[in-house]
Amino acid sequence: MNEFKHFINGAYVGSASGKTFENRCPVDNSLIGLVHEAGLDEVDQAVRAAKSALKGPWGQLSQAQRIELLNSVAERINQRFDEFLEAECRDTGKPYSIASHIDIPRGAANFKAFSETLANHPTEAFRLDTPDQLGAINLGHRTPKGVIAVISPWNLPLLLMTWKVGPALACGNTVVVKPSEETPATTTLLGEVMNECGVPPGVFNVVHGFGPNSAGEFLTTHPLIDAITFTGETRTGEAIMKAAAVGLRNISLECGGKNPGIVFADCDLEKAVEGTMRSAFVNCGQVCLGTERVYVERPVYDAFLKRMKEQVAKLKLGRPEDPAANFGPLVSLEHRNKVKYYYDLAVEEGATVEIGGGIPDMGEELNGGAWIEPTIWTGLADDARVIREEIFGPCCHIRPFDTEEEVIQLANDTEYGLAAAIWTENSSRAIRVAEQIEAGLVWVNSWFLRDLRTAFGGAKQSGIGREGGVHGLEFYTELKNICIKL
Ligand code: NAD
Repeated sequence: MNEFKHFINGAYVGSASGKTFENRCPVDNSLIGLVHEAGLDEVDQAVRAAKSALKGPWGQLSQAQRIELLNSVAERINQRFDEFLEAECRDTGKPYSIASHIDIPRGAANFKAFSETLANHPTEAFRLDTPDQLGAINLGHRTPKGVIAVISPWNLPLLLMTWKVGPALACGNTVVVKPSEETPATTTLLGEVMNECGVPPGVFNVVHGFGPNSAGEFLTTHPLIDAITFTGETRTGEAIMKAAAVGLRNISLECGGKNPGIVFADCDLEKAVEGTMRSAFVNCGQVCLGTERVYVERPVYDAFLKRMKEQVAKLKLGRPEDPAANFGPLVSLEHRNKVKYYYDLAVEEGATVEIGGGIPDMGEELNGGAWIEPTIWTGLADDARVIREEIFGPCCHIRPFDTEEEVIQLANDTEYGLAAAIWTENSSRAIRVAEQIEAGLVWVNSWFLRDLRTAFGGAKQSGIGREGGVHGLEFYTELKNICIKL
């Protein structure tokens, strides 16, 4: 039987309590293995290991040496690509064809991208005039923040975890990671890579478990944690913010969304359909940046809806290793219950189900899995719960609009503010509308096109803070001003 153990101070350890929970594959609900659940003791050991590693050989490395080490981590992930791919796809059920292009290569790249930013980042310096005419020089000196708690979700497990671990380590911090209870595999495997590359013990630690009254809460409330970076649901973000208030620890929160797609009549319709298809259905709709509300200018509404339905009908559901499959199951049966609840609610709220809406018959071997049909609705009122609440499944609602002012108001009529996609060939309109959208990320004629040097994060209830490029430096380092009187 496979076991997923904690990775503490460079070694794999089980829980002293012997407490474990099952990890099941959402493709067919088969048992992958048992995950050790960390208690207070294991979390405490991991945090203390991370704290003392700050003072060990890791703390003595120069920035260039750290960067070299992290580049070797990226290379080693790529060398063990197939193992990471298999582990990720077994945990999530996502097609190999997607994980091999997004999850694993980006998971590795996250260890390199930030190193380059850091290596090229100038030191802030200001010369100050003084009455004695001699002046003073101010230098902005950055030091690591300390021990960073990384709490990550299940939808892009390796990618979203390394998105935080990469910059945290590049800046000289140490980390304790609590991956999602649904997807422990690739984070566990990363421990082996850290050892193989010679990352000193205690720099990268992993504890497994759940949120409340389990590893997540024990970690975020631990007094030796210096900062917490979290990706997940907005309500969990609130709980973490409360935990961080004690001891005034810094937080970075990347939370949920209810992202709009805006299709103007002057767009390239084929590109808009292709991009909206990806943004609503890739990864079975489990992408925080995904589009769940689509607004289409009336002259192209019928044509757009028709093309979307044709494309959804062509999605090929299947096992991760099936090369023809581009659509996997949801992450778990529990999450399917949530998504199916919204599918039923949409009908209750008066939606027309244009396509999908149910649970597909996948045959005897796969029917135990968390499969769900990709779904398009029309006809819902703007205040329907299905329009306002994040579903995080392969579904979207399509609604016509008539004016630019109207669609800006509709797009912004949400408590969330993570991402938006605008489709138009009129570039002044694109900029005018993008500037008025209340979101951290706006794409024009694209979606999920990411330059890792740019800011990433959400407005409103989609998060606090920005990571990525130089913006990550603000969170992962302490900026000290040294004023030198000449
Ligand atoms: P979640 O909030 O349920 O869980 C995320 C992590 O938090 C898990 O590791 C979980 O165990 C832990 N956790 C839960 N309660 C906790 C607590 N009280 N204290 C400490 N840790 C706790 O989210 P999820 O279901 O895993 O992921 C889906 C959500 O993540 C969606 O809302 C999605 O929009 C969001 N998301 C956001 C981004 C982004 O960049 N903004 C990216 C991906 C996913």
